[in-house]
Amino acid sequence: MPDPTDTPVIEIRDLHKRYGPLEVLKGVDLVAPRGHVVSLIGSSGSGKSTLLRCCNLLEDSQQGEIRFEGEAVRWRGEGLARHPADRDQVTRIRTNLSMVFQQFNLWAHMTILQNVMEAPITVLKRDPKEVEARAREYLAKVGIGDKADAWPAQLSGGQQQRAAIARALCMEPRALLFDEPTSALDPELEQEVVKVIKALADEGRTMLLVTHDMKLAADCSDHVVFLHQGRIEEEGPPAALFGNPQSERLRGFLSATA
Ligand code: ADP
Ligand code: MG
Repeated sequence: MPDPTDTPVIEIRDLHKRYGPLEVLKGVDLVAPRGHVVSLIGSSGSGKSTLLRCCNLLEDSQQGEIRFEGEAVRWRGEGLARHPADRDQVTRIRTNLSMVFQQFNLWAHMTILQNVMEAPITVLKRDPKEVEARAREYLAKVGIGDKADAWPAQLSGGQQQRAAIARALCMEPRALLFDEPTSALDPELEQEVVKVIKALADEGRTMLLVTHDMKLAADCSDHVVFLHQGRIEEEGPPAALFGNPQSERLRGFLSATA
């Protein structure tokens, strides 16, 4: 069991995010304790992807606090105008929170093995021999150990997504961030990815999971957050959220997705 006194991997307080005049996140609090799976659900446009991208600093935000393992993210300037020391912080946090996207985003000109090895070698400057051994282990773990030398285009969607998960794991991150990892897949391929995600949850990995798959959220989460128009409308353990939803909006959302 996770230690409740342990510093959370991610802690967000009163986060506000605007795109120009459009306020997309309107004061969100989110805590991802070590070893927990937190799922984010909600309609399209409710701000789930934006929240995930704010967590690993792919997006700046305008107000609120983000802590990574207790360390506050500093905001001196945005994007490339950031203070150089703060850019180092961004890189460090980003590499510790590996993201898996809906569209896999594998590099088409690299083999599966090269895809998995690329970032640990170029970003983390790890020893290629050691990285290769680890990459092969992770490919085997997600069930595509025999695809190391294949090109992404030769793999099914489910295999490509599993390669993307192996690539995220090979960074040995403190948490995994999934943005609708099964949405682009046919139902029969979806299950092979669901199995991998559940196995990672069972291993006690810290994960933030945006998903449209309520069964997956119910099965593997410790905590579920329902976002509505940039605010948390309701949150709680999956049994309560799915079994006994309190808000009218969540009830409507769940009956529409059932
Ligand atoms: P979700 O992932 O829940 O579908 P998003 O976080 O992608 O929602 O989007 C939330 C809102 O932010 C939507 O209204 C969307 O149109 C808007 N949005 C997302 N990205 C941008 C962007 N780069 N520029 C302007 N608006 C954006
Ligand atoms: Mg999204």
